[in-house]
Amino acid sequence: MNTIHLHGTAFLGADFVPENVELTINNGIITDISPAREITGKLILPAFFNAHTHIGDTVAMDTQIDRPLKELVAPPNGLKHVILRETPRDKLISAMRHSMQFMYAGGTTGFADFREGGTDGVAALSAAKIPGIHPVILGRDGGELTAEAAGLGLSNAHRLESEIEAAAAAKKAGKLVAVHAGEGAVKDIEPAFELEPDVIIHATQFRKEDIRRAADEDIAVVLCPRSNWLLGVTDSAKKPPVRELLDAGCRVYLGTDNVMFVPPDMSAECAFLMTAYKTTPEETFRMATGGFALCGQSSVIENGAQANLFVMEDEGLLAWSRKPLATALTRLGRGAVKTVISPVSEGIYCKKQ
Ligand SMILES: [Zn+2]
Repeated sequence: MNTIHLHGTAFLGADFVPENVELTINNGIITDISPAREITGKLILPAFFNAHTHIGDTVAMDTQIDRPLKELVAPPNGLKHVILRETPRDKLISAMRHSMQFMYAGGTTGFADFREGGTDGVAALSAAKIPGIHPVILGRDGGELTAEAAGLGLSNAHRLESEIEAAAAAKKAGKLVAVHAGEGAVKDIEPAFELEPDVIIHATQFRKEDIRRAADEDIAVVLCPRSNWLLGVTDSAKKPPVRELLDAGCRVYLGTDNVMFVPPDMSAECAFLMTAYKTTPEETFRMATGGFALCGQSSVIENGAQANLFVMEDEGLLAWSRKPLATALTRLGRGAVKTVISPVSEGIYCKKQ
């Protein structure tokens, strides 16, 4: 039997209650959580799920934002698509693997990726997989129907026959339908709802009626606040309407969007959300971990659950903290992550000291 003991302040259950414990993991399952007296300076947190990425554009990392959003990222001729088409497959795979390693080392063990490039694009991400982090691949242009894809990741809805058919086919195959909507304008919101999606990405320009509809139809909403600010589709805490989405009872998840502009760093995304939108540490962390539901998983730390967590060193800060979860997210960040334990095969990561 493979047994691991962890000792530190763990954030337990769905409410992330901090308790100083000794945690025992047997063959990947948390089998015991016992109170501990000694303080170790370690924090044990549920793993992050990054609910929206485009890791293919790792190959265009830190491209200057010097033209309108559409000219940068819209298919088929936005700058990122030109760069993607020009990139050899082996280079694309190695770049995507790099972003997966970056995410995993920061405590992210699952992510939902909009994978461009049809069936080849989906195959390239499958080939790039590393142990420890699970990609929920959302393909397009036929890629969504391959065995490796979990569903469709549609750029925007325009009421085109091809989009409606693609969404229907994905549903028929029992797969997810996800679509960007309401990022820079409201006109693509209604067409997106008409596709009856499982997930809407952005919702930056959502109005009251859109919030109500997402809640009533149980459509998950993925917010990417740093991307929205960088790309100039918001300049206030009213957009996206984070507080209203939460108050309406929507399922809200957090993503980092295009790797070309935003590092896929969930601690940094959480810190930004808390600063700009004044969400509580618990609300924030729930958004940053809840996306595991998209693949039928969870990272809640409780007895009997699979171990899907990471360990941070507190750098002495915990002694002063009145809110350890806030300290973890806003002061420590990904650099403090020392160990990641993931349910994906061979997924134990330990940073070399
Ligand atoms: Zn996106």
